Amino acid sequence: MSAYRAVLIPGDGIGPEVIGAARRVIAATGVAVEWEEVEVGGTALGKHGDPLPGAALERIRECGVALKGPVATPVGKGFPSVNVALRRGLGLYANLRPVRSIPGVPSRYRDVDLVVIRENTEGLYVGIEREPRPGVVEAVRRITAAASLRIARFAFAYAARNGRRSVTVVHKANILKRSDGLFLDCARRVAAGYPGVEYRERIVDAACQDLVLDPSRHDVLLCPNLYGDIISDLAAGLVGGLGLVPAANLGDGVAVFEAVHGSAPDIAGRGIANPTALILAGAMLLAHLGEAEAGRALEAAVARVYREGRCLTPDVGGSSTTREFAEAVIAALGDT
Ligand code: NAD
Repeated sequence: MSAYRAVLIPGDGIGPEVIGAARRVIAATGVAVEWEEVEVGGTALGKHGDPLPGAALERIRECGVALKGPVATPVGKGFPSVNVALRRGLGLYANLRPVRSIPGVPSRYRDVDLVVIRENTEGLYVGIEREPRPGVVEAVRRITAAASLRIARFAFAYAARNGRRSVTVVHKANILKRSDGLFLDCARRVAAGYPGVEYRERIVDAACQDLVLDPSRHDVLLCPNLYGDIISDLAAGLVGGLGLVPAANLGDGVAVFEAVHGSAPDIAGRGIANPTALILAGAMLLAHLGEAEAGRALEAAVARVYREGRCLTPDVGGSSTTREFAEAVIAALGDT
């Protein structure tokens, strides 16, 4: 059988380390993927003077599928977020983040099974800030009916297809009456077409408390962009940390798989980053390519390594390296 084609974006910081691990374990599933490496972020900025060259976007669009390492964005200065530009440039409107407990990982809860669905193209991430006069800065938070309906349709279709019990819309419409009011209104309209999925609403601050006290209070969380970003990291903390949670950015005909975490500059270059999130993103990519069985085998191999507990990275209480963890997953794949 001929190989699948996919773009590989190493990214910044720990990106090349965790992408390298994910690439090795995907190869070990036996599914042949021909990777085309594309640079975005710091390396692209150094080489081409642009952290997101148009040619890189074009390659991802043409190929239709990519596995992406995290890309750093300067805080409070410098170029706009490459991640945001990539998601908007490719029309990747749905950010899907399944957050599941992995038995063997030290964490506050067992049996967490949440799905965060984040609107990925607008909200505060339109990146429009203006300074009407010195000392006053305003940011635009754009919510449109078109994007809100689109993400609500995605969330309910996902919930129905995957047998999920409820969709909770996370909002702040008590304060942001018109913008979050519109987001809620769109979700209600879509929910009416899905009587089999319970429809719920929760103000974002209360939703954070719910999740910390008892994550089983929620199931699928449908969020505007910023709340989805924050809730995903909070949810990652419930299952043992950012090193564990994968994500898919989905649009029409294009899908980019990555980790929820960033470039982790504090541990970059030390070979100790946890590659689990990127490996599980790789399993999502395999399922997307139609290789669901290989994806499941990869998830099972990761679960086995954690169950055995002999080869864990420092963020989850072990002392193994990124490479050793990947080798353990490959060995577990061979044993299944
Ligand atoms: P971060 O996610 O990079 O790191 C937060 C903390 O989690 C750090 O202590 C880090 O060491 C730890 N961590 C993250 N991933 C880990 C892993 N795989 N294994 C072990 N520990 C891990 O968040 P940050 O420090 O706030 O952001 C750093 C940079 O990443 C910023 O420039 C930010 O813009 C960028 N970022 C990119 C993405 C993306 O590419 N999708 C997402 C989030 C942040």
